[in-house]
Amino acid sequence: MSTPVITDWRQLLKFRCTGCGNCCKGTIVMLTDSDVRRIVEGTGMAPREFVRFFGENELTMSKRHPFWIRFANRQATMALRWGRERCIFLDREDRCTIYEHRPLACREHPFTITVSQRGAVEGLALSNVSECLYELDGNVTRPELAEVSRWNEEESAEYQERVRIWNSDKKRSRTRTAFMEFLGLEWDYGFRRRKYSRARTDLPSFG
Ligand code: SF4
Ligand code: SF4
Repeated sequence: MSTPVITDWRQLLKFRCTGCGNCCKGTIVMLTDSDVRRIVEGTGMAPREFVRFFGENELTMSKRHPFWIRFANRQATMALRWGRERCIFLDREDRCTIYEHRPLACREHPFTITVSQRGAVEGLALSNVSECLYELDGNVTRPELAEVSRWNEEESAEYQERVRIWNSDKKRSRTRTAFMEFLGLEWDYGFRRRKYSRARTDLPSFG
């Protein structure tokens, strides 16, 4: 399978994911609290079963990135667990086993979407985190792209604000369990609904 050559971003509106699974192997997928909540609601799993906190020595992310969470002895960022260099939700046939509940980063992948201030799609680029074996015989619409981009931006901004509050509060116990509690989640035993909880599995995705 050869990867088509892109000379104009509009060609990517014909993107079709072939399901090769490359983007789910060796890639760290960062999570927001909304992602964690959707997976808990959709699978019944406790966060400790699928969340891992990656430290600064494991990521090449800027030290100023707003997803860094301050714990007692280190900074870390919340991401999906791996097993054998692949996402724990990728099955042996390279299919996502939580497709309807997967994180927004997975939904937006493999695109980097540029939108205007009025929300119109102005550009599209392919992520280079993994080799994407796509074809150009699909149909990705601009409204779908704009919707996923807006959805991702909203939830990321909400999560960043929660992390900022957590990081600036000096009185807190700085453990994983306390961080989950702060987000309205339980690390070990399940899920408690808060007023900002959303269950939106009906919106588009591409990969
Ligand atoms: S959640 Fe699904 S789509 Fe996302 S990395 Fe894991 S297997 Fe891939
Ligand atoms: S988005 Fe690309 S890398 Fe990921 S499964 Fe589809 S074709 Fe493969």
